[in-house]
Amino acid sequence: MTFIAVRCHYCQSDQIVKRGKTARGTQRYLCQNTLCPKGSFLLDSCNRGCLPEVKHTIIDMSLNASGVRDTARSLRICPNTVLRELKKQEAVLESVNTTVLRTLNPAEVAWGMERPGEAERDEMWSFVGTKGNPRWLWHAIDHHTGKVLAYVFGRRTDEVFLQLKALLEPFGLTRYYTDHWGAYTRHLDPDVHSPGKRNTQKIERKHLTLRTRMKRLVRKTICFSKTT
Ligand SMILES: [Zn+2]
Repeated sequence: MTFIAVRCHYCQSDQIVKRGKTARGTQRYLCQNTLCPKGSFLLDSCNRGCLPEVKHTIIDMSLNASGVRDTARSLRICPNTVLRELKKQEAVLESVNTTVLRTLNPAEVAWGMERPGEAERDEMWSFVGTKGNPRWLWHAIDHHTGKVLAYVFGRRTDEVFLQLKALLEPFGLTRYYTDHWGAYTRHLDPDVHSPGKRNTQKIERKHLTLRTRMKRLVRKTICFSKTT
């Protein structure tokens, strides 16, 4: 006779007892670890989307530029499961680059490295579902390093720009390079504002890269277009 130890998929505990069967006749198990996040589980789940390792893989694939359908096909799960997992990550996203902000903390850089506080800002058009539902990514990067400082999603309105402006406040920026969009000239001090194409190449390049790598449009063209 052979015994196979059953371990909980969620907490790896071996304190497991049998807990009846599902409607299909699969054995159900109960984890007796009181700290277990789940409790009851199946050994061979036919619903792969609920397995913790599959959920981790969804996030890993998305960070490696796999699209939603791409991930669903590879992991043999439903695209809705992929979307649901990705939406759960929204809570942990921050629209300000706190790592860069921490290095700007005056207490930590008291030994005196002068940082050139220059930023490039731009906005990128896209849409949700239909083109009647446009969304703009407002986004600012460091002019010298190209690191993302902060971003906001919204319409192409002044309110959204003011949100981004508020997020950038703690960085203590001394110069902004933007295009000639009206929101910038209305809300930025002319002394620190340089509109024009000369100094926004880095952010325009970043937006082009984002568009080219967005999986949604790869089927028709490798590049982004507003009409196809
Ligand atoms: Zn458990």
